[in-house]
Amino acid sequence: MATDLEEVEALSVPVFQVQSAPPALAGWVTRLLTPVVAACRLRRAYPIELRPTGCWAGWALAPEYAPDRRVSVSNLMLYRSPRALVTIYLHELAHQIVGADHDHDAQFFATNLMLLLRASDSVDVDVLPAGGALAEMGLYDIQAPPVELQREPDAGVGRAVSWAISVAHEFAPKAMTAEDAAAEICARYAAWILQLEAAPAKAAAAAAARAQAAAAAISTAQRLRRVHAWMAVAAVTVLAEAFMLLKFAFGGA
Ligand SMILES: [Zn+2]
Repeated sequence: MATDLEEVEALSVPVFQVQSAPPALAGWVTRLLTPVVAACRLRRAYPIELRPTGCWAGWALAPEYAPDRRVSVSNLMLYRSPRALVTIYLHELAHQIVGADHDHDAQFFATNLMLLLRASDSVDVDVLPAGGALAEMGLYDIQAPPVELQREPDAGVGRAVSWAISVAHEFAPKAMTAEDAAAEICARYAAWILQLEAAPAKAAAAAAARAQAAAAAISTAQRLRRVHAWMAVAAVTVLAEAFMLLKFAFGGA
């Protein structure tokens, strides 16, 4: 009869780990991504881990799971195209350099697009079409526009993308590293959110000032109308008195 321990062992779940990529494959991926990392002006080369999955295209591993800041990419990307592999690698890198506490928000979109712009602008990266960086982005990348814009007809997606495109184009040509640019983009985003938060109070104050000015204009107009009425009475009185004087002067003739 089997002991409890033997039964547990018989049912234990086998565990496999991802193995190192074969040298030929690793060499091909390295040759593809090294010029991309250089063109993006990344401070370091983030490792890529190819995983045998079709559940997702890529995954930015949190530092507690992967201190070397590696990104996971589905090995299905290898069968699609070099361009797909570069695009998903840059998407996951954007997650890594934007840092904690972000979503697919405008700061992420701007950072991802900035990386694509830098890569597209490089003569050494021939897998991305020059100037077509925005075509590699999609609505998937802006699923979390600012909550302050949620009442807009498109839930703020349009304004968030416009903001992100403008910021990405501003930082793409700068000489700074991609990590430093990402930090500045995040600071810029925080300032924009503060502005959006303050906007309703500012708009209410402006509306109150406009209402006050309109009330003041109405009261001035009323005062002017009263002055005009008194002037009209005075003019009639003067005319009447002049008429009486003329009547006395010539009336007796
Ligand atoms: Zn993502």
